[in-house]
Amino acid sequence: MLRVTEIFRSIQGESTHAGRPCTFVRLTGCPMRCVWCDSEYTFSGGEHYSIDDILVQVDAFGCKLVEVTGGEPLAQKEAFNLIKRLCDDDYEVLIETGGYVSTADVDPRAKIILDIKCPASGEEPRNDWSNLQRLRADKDEVKFVIADEGDWTYAKRIIQENYLEARARAILISPAWGQVDLQQLADWIAASGMKIRMQLQLHKYIWGPDVKGV
Ligand code: SF4
Repeated sequence: MLRVTEIFRSIQGESTHAGRPCTFVRLTGCPMRCVWCDSEYTFSGGEHYSIDDILVQVDAFGCKLVEVTGGEPLAQKEAFNLIKRLCDDDYEVLIETGGYVSTADVDPRAKIILDIKCPASGEEPRNDWSNLQRLRADKDEVKFVIADEGDWTYAKRIIQENYLEARARAILISPAWGQVDLQQLADWIAASGMKIRMQLQLHKYIWGPDVKGV
């Protein structure tokens, strides 16, 4: 059984898949506490579903793109079986993970969007650096949420030291909502000369920052 906060259909708001129709399976719970977290409602509650129940609901939405997210989706052991079952059913599966749990046992057919927590999140010491070794340049994306200039300096250093431009399908630079000036962030990215991309969370601009299930 898995604890699930919500299952819904929307458009993908982030990553290189932004704008695509997508079904989201948002699992409950996260062992981290990023200070700017926008998903605190997933920390508790939720309902228990079997994988079969989840697959029925996902099928009803009729999207072949499915994202397993949270909270931290990989914090529940059964999530690895859910991902495998979705891949078996020929879904294109995205995993949005906070980077604290090892991705070693994720089905290789799934595409990973791996957060690297920057200092202002308060959770930088909990990054599992072994996850970088498993990145696949044709599939996986890395995301840095930037809250201030210190985070931007940190992200550049981590990208360069780990040769991420060559090792990930995309490097996503995302502003922490309301914490960093968007034009300033765009200027930093444009001037960097790096193979990275700025991303905004589309769903927050369309429906507002506090609306759930979109
Ligand atoms: S890892 Fe994600 S869900 Fe967990 S506290 Fe950080 S932002 Fe929130």
